[in-house]
Amino acid sequence: MSRAVAYVLLGPPGSGKGTQAKLLAPKLGMAHISIGDLLREAVRNGTEVGKLAKSYIEAGKLVPDEVAMKIAEDAMKGPACEKGFVVDGFPRTIEQAKLFDALLKRIDFNLEKVLYIDLPLKEILKRLTGRRSCKKCGAVYHVVFNPPKKEGVCDVCGGELYQRKDDTDDVIKVRFDVYQKETFPLIDYFKRSGKLVKIDGSKDVKSVFSEICRIAGV
Ligand code: ADP
Ligand code: AMP
Repeated sequence: MSRAVAYVLLGPPGSGKGTQAKLLAPKLGMAHISIGDLLREAVRNGTEVGKLAKSYIEAGKLVPDEVAMKIAEDAMKGPACEKGFVVDGFPRTIEQAKLFDALLKRIDFNLEKVLYIDLPLKEILKRLTGRRSCKKCGAVYHVVFNPPKKEGVCDVCGGELYQRKDDTDDVIKVRFDVYQKETFPLIDYFKRSGKLVKIDGSKDVKSVFSEICRIAGV
């Protein structure tokens, strides 16, 4: 028996990984880890990692594997993950997936499921151009599909909502190409381990979450 379990949310940018991870983690009593959120926090705080990551993020490219790995490993070894974690946006390359497997062994965690949320490019564009995030708590909204009660203000903490710099048409296209080239091969990689479950991401947030809960048995 392993010490705890890990869930991975895989899928193209805008497929709803963050939205679902934020719902699933508390339901399972586990920590939520988003490498994208941690990198943006590092950029805001002007740390060394943040300075390095900024240009990659703004161009829609992946940060180098060793940078993503270091952030992931620090988070996964943290006390918040004692009961397990739900990670979104990681791993994103075959190299990261291999290093992640080795890390899970070292920390004695079992990879329970890889939840692959599928969504076509046309829908991705609609989702990402309308995304708004809270500056303070990171809650995620959509101007049409999931609007806050008061425009520009976070329902959860009252913080100011902003549009991510990488959620513009041009950068979204780069991110989608990077996804297809670097991350899409992970679907076969995890299929081989028998852990991958495909989920239709085109349904509304509630329906996708019900499906995920059914798969996770909660
Ligand atoms: P990811 O983490 O995969 O990049 P997000 O969870 O940030 O994606 O979702 C992208 C955008 O789509 C956000 O604006 C979010 O509010 C919205 N969204 C997420 N899931 C759904 C859904 N099932 N239906 C409609 N909009 C959604
Ligand atoms: P996300 O918040 O998941 O949309 O990620 C935003 C950006 O952070 C990506 O476009 C990458 O530049 C960077 N990033 C997030 N996760 C990773 C990862 N696992 N590997 C490399 N770069 C990442």
